[in-house]
Amino acid sequence: DIFSLQGKIALITGASSGLGGHFAKTLARAGASVVVAARRRDKLDQLVGEIAGEGGTVMAVTMDVTDGDSVRAAYDAAEAQMGIIDVIVCNAGVADTRSFLDMDEDSWDFTMDTNLKGVWRVAQEGCRRLVRADKPGVVINISSLLGLAFQTLQTAYATSKAGVIHMTRCMASELMRYNIRVNSIAPGYFKTEMNATFFDTEKGKAYIKTIPARRLGDLAELDGPLLLLASDASSFVNGTTLIVDG
Ligand code: NDP
Repeated sequence: DIFSLQGKIALITGASSGLGGHFAKTLARAGASVVVAARRRDKLDQLVGEIAGEGGTVMAVTMDVTDGDSVRAAYDAAEAQMGIIDVIVCNAGVADTRSFLDMDEDSWDFTMDTNLKGVWRVAQEGCRRLVRADKPGVVINISSLLGLAFQTLQTAYATSKAGVIHMTRCMASELMRYNIRVNSIAPGYFKTEMNATFFDTEKGKAYIKTIPARRLGDLAELDGPLLLLASDASSFVNGTTLIVDG
């Protein structure tokens, strides 16, 4: 099975909710040992129970992607228990819907620090450890459709996600020589904590009808793209962004 992740050790940031929690379950079902990371420990512990209940090998680490010390400490804890992480899923992110004119510097910095610099911190730490150990690996950065398409009231968010897509290409060009592949998934709209309140409004429901599929994505529809990029099935795919937007 070229999609198997047996023997792999995966780290998923932002696993306490939404896409990240789902990614952790999917990677565990494909055979990877998984390390689930986020700030909310209670949510992670619940997820650990669910994955372990299915027979998966899993542990939780508390990690704030805006804090380099926290990122390094989380890697240390994960490595001590599981070994060197070789599938890194940089998924943690925050949304911001302030208008361009209303955006203040703190909210701009907060979005960039989490969505863009957070990916850099987590990916760099993981890749340094892989290179030191001379171990091959993969990085999957979660960008967004909005990193490719404009949307009103999304200047900071969309710009951070466009940055993630381009950082993916730049990283890929430097890291392939170490047998580390770096790709990105750009999801369209999936209902999670991030946007549920919007999609439940009349405006949100009307917006859904403008999506060509005329519906939101189901989280399971991200499984194929995730397993493709995480596994040897994509051994010569590097620097690409896979759009999953219906
Ligand atoms: P959620 O709000 O459901 O989850 C966001 C996750 O990020 C949470 O687990 C949160 O955990 C974590 N997080 C936020 N800030 C930090 C931080 N500083 N340190 C560590 N973890 C952090 O959102 P989604 O699941 O929808 O989003 C996941 C990713 O997918 C994001 O990058 C988002 O931009 C992207 N995406 C989502 C789409 C969608 O339609 N839902 C579409 C396109 C992209 P905690 O608060 O516990 O730290």
